[in-house]
Amino acid sequence: MKKKPEYERPIITKINAGVTDKFGMRAKMPIISEIDGIPVNDLINKYGSPSFILSEQTIRKTFNDAKRAFTTRYPNVQFAWSYKTNYMNAVCKIFHSEGSWAEVVSGFEYDKALSNGVAPNKIIFNGPDKSKEDLIKATENGSYIHIDHFDELYELLNIADSSKKRPKVAIRVNMDTGIYPQWDRFGFNYENGEAWNALNRIMMSKKLDLIGLHTHIGTYMMTPTPYGVAASKLAELAVRTERKFNHKIKYIDMGGGFASKNTLKGAYLPGKDTCPSFDQYAEAISNALINSELDPNEMPTLFLETGRALIDDAGYITGSVLANKRLADGRRSMIIDTGVNMLFTSFWYEHEIYPAKEVSSHSEDTTIYGPLCMNIDVIRSVIKFPSLQKGDHYVIKRVGAYNMTQWMQFITLRPKIILIDTEGKAHIIRENETNDSLVALENVPDYLN
Ligand SMILES: *Cc1c(COP(=O)(O)O)cnc(C)c1O
Repeated sequence: MKKKPEYERPIITKINAGVTDKFGMRAKMPIISEIDGIPVNDLINKYGSPSFILSEQTIRKTFNDAKRAFTTRYPNVQFAWSYKTNYMNAVCKIFHSEGSWAEVVSGFEYDKALSNGVAPNKIIFNGPDKSKEDLIKATENGSYIHIDHFDELYELLNIADSSKKRPKVAIRVNMDTGIYPQWDRFGFNYENGEAWNALNRIMMSKKLDLIGLHTHIGTYMMTPTPYGVAASKLAELAVRTERKFNHKIKYIDMGGGFASKNTLKGAYLPGKDTCPSFDQYAEAISNALINSELDPNEMPTLFLETGRALIDDAGYITGSVLANKRLADGRRSMIIDTGVNMLFTSFWYEHEIYPAKEVSSHSEDTTIYGPLCMNIDVIRSVIKFPSLQKGDHYVIKRVGAYNMTQWMQFITLRPKIILIDTEGKAHIIRENETNDSLVALENVPDYLN
């Protein structure tokens, strides 16, 4: 039998340009053709595709917005930069130059803060994993040790016996703030009395210098109310400690967790319209502290360890389109050179992505894939997007938090990180990986050579 001529199924796609504006014009997708005055094409030509780009101007502006929100409402405020959110040395040094202390959660981060020139008595040491050596070092240095569990408390009591210095400590407290699931795996629980128990043991041992109370209630908190609840509970613990032991708590540390303007997957409205402002978080926290029983003449210092809300907006990815193709059901898909290995936060966020030059106003439902040979490598599962061609450039917004620390080397090599300074000059603050830089850590046993 003669084979029938090959038949190609036609694909009908609805062209959807979105809602028209008041002149009946189609809403056109905005473009990002430059970052802090530098054309995206120049950045890609000079530093490669893809690259991370950070705006120093945005970092400083965001920090000062946050600082103003708190210092106008509360007498003494101190920020500490959350290293794990982005520990590029250049980034940390920008925050330190604005007056931020360092907030670290491992021995490695602790040493990084020291080598960034942070005074040891301006380092807050959090987290469940501090080795005995870490604790001895932090004690000798007079850093602030935030105790996570009883085993750490016992270890510190032992260290205090043999050290000339008294460890300066706070306890981390977890609690019910009305947000579920509750983060109860870190620190001592408030409601079941464990936090009060830890405070009593510390005070009665007389071996540790209890200077603060700490909490970090969660991350990407979409409402300020839980911060008010948490601040009231810490204030209550501070007041009880003072009454029972005649001992003043010097600071209350509210941790981090303020939402950035990114949009969570499945959210109905964009994050930039729904996430609370620094003013709203500051209002909730300072109201709770000011209206508590704390001595108004000697209010404790308010520490803040906010991470993502201070750096997300300052980060961009610039990159290129690799290919376009139709999926089996006819949907358009676009493959770009940014994968989930370097954009870890695409598992949680619908990252905004824009063309870098003027394109057609027609847009179509598009799935955007990364370059990995992995089914999960999806940057946007569906977005109305104009048609870009192979080699065209794109910009992804709000990628400054966590990606440059949580990224992994997998299939592709990690790209350069560029910082644009406040004068609009670009600097490479981290080189791209190479085959050589990767194998530098490998060893091949002799018998295989
Ligand atoms: C991660 C972390 C932060 C920063 O959290 P963000 O959600 O980025 O603001 C602050 N404090 C502690 C103890 C942390 O573990």
